[in-house]
Amino acid sequence: MSAVETVVRLAYLAAATCFVLGLHLMNAPATARRGNHLSIAGMTVAVAATLVLLADSGGTTPTGWTVLAAGAAVGTVAGLWGARSVPMTAMPQLVSLFNAVGGGAAALVAVPELLPPAEAASVRVPAALDVAIGAVTFAGSLVAAGKLAGVVPGRPVVFPGARLAGGALAVAAAVAGGVLIYGYGGGAALAVLAGTALVFGVALVLPIGGADMPVVISLLNACTGTAVAMAGLATGNSVLVVAGALVGASGAILTGLMAAAMNRSLGAILLGGYGTGDGTGGPAGPAGAAVRAVSADDVAIQLGYARRVVVVPGYGLAAAQAQYALHELASVLAARGTEVTYAIHPVAGRMPGHMNVLLAEANVPYPDMRELDAANAELPLADVALVVGANDVTNPAARRPGNAISGMPILDVDRAAAVIVLKRSMGHGYAGLDNELYTDPKTGMLFADARAGLTALTAAVKTLVG
Ligand code: NDP
Repeated sequence: MSAVETVVRLAYLAAATCFVLGLHLMNAPATARRGNHLSIAGMTVAVAATLVLLADSGGTTPTGWTVLAAGAAVGTVAGLWGARSVPMTAMPQLVSLFNAVGGGAAALVAVPELLPPAEAASVRVPAALDVAIGAVTFAGSLVAAGKLAGVVPGRPVVFPGARLAGGALAVAAAVAGGVLIYGYGGGAALAVLAGTALVFGVALVLPIGGADMPVVISLLNACTGTAVAMAGLATGNSVLVVAGALVGASGAILTGLMAAAMNRSLGAILLGGYGTGDGTGGPAGPAGAAVRAVSADDVAIQLGYARRVVVVPGYGLAAAQAQYALHELASVLAARGTEVTYAIHPVAGRMPGHMNVLLAEANVPYPDMRELDAANAELPLADVALVVGANDVTNPAARRPGNAISGMPILDVDRAAAVIVLKRSMGHGYAGLDNELYTDPKTGMLFADARAGLTALTAAVKTLVG
């Protein structure tokens, strides 16, 4: 092994260490930023080492270098522009697009390993798996991004014979993959493998909808990692194997956690069709139940004299970018001696960890955030549950069968002494269901944009209750 190769391997080891430590630091919001920086440093080292290896081996022509530089330039500009300009509300679909790009790129890496029939089976097997998984991830993530952006219907899209067609596609992909692994078929078999995997990816995600999207997003993330690890095995690149395995494993763990949060098995979610029930969540409260609209002044007095307030943030908080206004209101209440905690549902918002990220951005103390079970233990003791832009995660319809969120554990907001819901209208959440919490006699509806409403509440608490 040449001196350059030795240095590159050591650099890969350092990069892999950065990835593992970075992931570990991402366990807690307080250290997550450092974890991100460490992972960026690791990735920079890995890319630089790969370029050095490429230059040293002389394996790339001037045209190759030009293509590499152009690709890197386009990717860097698009990535930087996308990440910096995207509004917070569009972040989930951007993450899905990044997932698609990762899966697609990993699939392309394996193509040259499959076309010459001379490569060993130890290369062809991971290469074929890479193309299959990468193509499924690419197409599936594009559909998921479309659903999150509202370009593709968010509800489950099911058609007769869909499962049979999915099975047939999987078999066709497996046959084409087998043919390729044995060194036959060349470009035609590769095209069949990639084509069937792409259609399978679309067919996999279309029937999933309503409240099950978080699970499929985590699953696609795990698939991206697995495709990258396969690319590493096919090309003999150890840092790709480590990075891919880390993403694959952490994505798989997150998928399990998200499925558990929905109280569903992964298989049941992937077979799809949840959310094709009544579409209303059942009767919206007792017959003739009326909605009680309240003013910011009423709510300010209620909050000002409460001993315990549990805040339930949801997607509307992110949409309104109201996290700072929320923290300010909580600080004013805390200064008056009110105990304020935040109840975080695992699928609140539009991406895993959405609420934790938002609240951490506004410097909400981490110990004040409660996960589902802890929050549900505290809610019956709360004087006021303040729901800010959350809907599905509080909907009691989940306790009944036959609708899109049946069986999903919810935040038991209706068990607090009083409930205030801050949102703009009686509009539905992501799952498209009526929420009978809004007609519960103990619920007051404060109709406003979350940021404007919270700002008005803070001002009213200051002036009305001092
Ligand atoms: P929901 O989507 O159920 O409801 C959000 C509510 O926010 C809406 O009813 C809307 O009502 C309100 N809202 C929107 N904009 C504003 C605003 N500017 N100010 C105030 N309110 C606003 O959100 P939840 O967080 O309760 O639930 C998340 C849902 O998304 C779940 O069904 C989950 O499964 C799904 N999902 C989650 C993902 C994840 O990874 N976390 C990924 C994909 C989907 P109005 O229009 O009346 O204001």
